[in-house]
Amino acid sequence: MMKREEILDGLRQSPKVDVCVIGGGINGISVFRELALQGLNVLLVEKHDYCSGASAALSRMVHGGLRYLENGEFKLVQESLVERDRLLRNAPHYVAPLPTTVPVFDIFSGLGNGIVRFLGLSRRPSRRGAIAIKAGLSIYDFLTRKRALMPRHQFRGRRATLQKWPMLNPGTKSSATYFDAWVSHPERLGIELLQDGLRAGPAARALNYAEMRRVEDGGYVIVDQVGRTVTSIEPRFVINATGGWIDITNGALLPPQLQPGSLMGGTKGSHLIIDNAALRDALADHMIYYENEDGRICILFPYLGKVLVGSTDIRVDDPEGVRCEADERDYILQSLAFVLPGITIRLEEVVFQFSGVRPLPASTDSFTGRIPRDHFCTVVESQDGGVPVLCMIGGKWTTFRSFGELAADTTLERLGQSRRVETTARAIGGGRQFPSDIKAWIARLAAEAGVSLERGAELFRRYGTDAAVVAGFGVAGPDTPMPHDGYSERELLFLIRNEAVERLDDLLLRRTTLAVSGELSLDMMDAVLELLAAEKRWTAAQRAGERSRFLTQLRERHGVDEDRLSARNEQRSKKCDTTAKSG
Ligand SMILES: Cc1cc2nc3c(=O)[nH]c(=O)nc-3n(C[C@H](O)[C@H](O)[C@H](O)COP(=O)(O)OP(=O)(O)OC[C@H]3O[C@@H](n4cnc5c(N)ncnc54)[C@H](O)[C@@H]3O)c2cc1C
Repeated sequence: MMKREEILDGLRQSPKVDVCVIGGGINGISVFRELALQGLNVLLVEKHDYCSGASAALSRMVHGGLRYLENGEFKLVQESLVERDRLLRNAPHYVAPLPTTVPVFDIFSGLGNGIVRFLGLSRRPSRRGAIAIKAGLSIYDFLTRKRALMPRHQFRGRRATLQKWPMLNPGTKSSATYFDAWVSHPERLGIELLQDGLRAGPAARALNYAEMRRVEDGGYVIVDQVGRTVTSIEPRFVINATGGWIDITNGALLPPQLQPGSLMGGTKGSHLIIDNAALRDALADHMIYYENEDGRICILFPYLGKVLVGSTDIRVDDPEGVRCEADERDYILQSLAFVLPGITIRLEEVVFQFSGVRPLPASTDSFTGRIPRDHFCTVVESQDGGVPVLCMIGGKWTTFRSFGELAADTTLERLGQSRRVETTARAIGGGRQFPSDIKAWIARLAAEAGVSLERGAELFRRYGTDAAVVAGFGVAGPDTPMPHDGYSERELLFLIRNEAVERLDDLLLRRTTLAVSGELSLDMMDAVLELLAAEKRWTAAQRAGERSRFLTQLRERHGVDEDRLSARNEQRSKKCDTTAKSG
């Protein structure tokens, strides 16, 4: 990756860029990659870190969206299923099939309500019965029949359901199992997609912790929050890919008379990561996709050895700094108690929580679950000497490729250029040259890089085929263990040097899964901070400032305080003692 000073120097020498993409969530990165691949001079600016907004807050499902069928969004479901299947092929290191089971509590309801809703007589949520679910799943199977990457849906009667999932609510009448997919490292997939764009286009550049602003004389500047510099740029076209922030960004880019009004109506959603073995075992490796007592869909599935549970759906105007509030956490735990009544979760078993804003199109629907999930682009023309602004509205994570493609095609047309490269079958990052025999690939990696088979497998799980580069870097110099058995100093150094890491949370929350999986201890945090501070040549005061900023963020936004981190030091030392004794 080009260093930020080089990028800013380059802009000072030549401020003209074809396109400036504002917002480095998955959709901004996707359109950036598309345009970079076509050889455009494209600059992406992200005011926080890449994939730190909604793109870090998703339910981690890569799905067609079974429930969007009842809103009549067939086109979206079809497109999502195509993109889901493409991701299974193009990013197999992070996207995998997920057997999903829907417990059914009613036989008939849902279908009747669907008709009532279709006629516009009611917009209220209602219980989905077996017949409605059967209809939805048959459509799912029909839409994927040609590719047929995963098995078709299957129904189980009450007895068979409770035999397989004995902890399920005894009111369950039957269940339906179908296949969707999940993504293990969505934030890493974002950074790999970005790197693919940067590699593909010599004139493509990207900066996190940077904003584009319009200044008084009508020109545009890049404000770099790291070096605290301001650099003029002259874009021909701007893409507003700021998700839930779209209206706020337009407010800063466009004069009041040109502002398109409210395009966005975001809803906040929160999730918990729970460390409870009984809960994990109760899922039998399936996602449970169920309707809560209030008619809202909730989910839970095994995630990195823990269980991911969500979510809520609350309207918000400003996505900045949203967090999972105590009442949301209680709602999620109550919904869990409804579907698995025999399992008790203690608050200390909630090891991480996260929240984000769904970038939904503006809507007046009172039930947030019914707001359309589809995406589209709107170009706001400039009449005051500024440049046109293409706004990317809506969009699920699953459809980031097709949405990026749509925005790129609109942009190319406006700039009078044509598409040279397609992305439909283009592998992403460590999904390239994905082996059919994973075991043999890992054995070769271990032999070539001189690491153990276990370590090779761990790196493969984390980076796919890019594990070879990470392992190569790891053995190219003296390495030191870290206060976490799975990471070495050089692996983290690799990430710091190659993946645009500027702050501690970039590394602990997004380049790695240390925090989200509840594995981060205070000792590990301090060791990683030490490493980062040395690389960035921070003063003692800067280092202390970063430590306290990170701890505040972790406590306020993710529900993890310093005592919790410190307790994990003790858990680790106990584990080490036991290993030493048994060794
Ligand atoms: C609770 C929840 C659950 C979800 N579950 C799923 C799911 O399971 N599957 C699925 O497919 N989708 C899911 N989604 C939807 C999906 O996460 C989003 O649609 C997708 O991540 C949106 O990406 P984005 O790039 O448009 O927005 P974001 O990821 O929010 O990116 C916008 C970026 O713009 C930046 N920005 C804002 N203002 C500026 C500025 N002035 N200058 C520079 N940068 C700026 C922000 O910092 C942010 O990083 C879920 C969303 C939520 C919130």
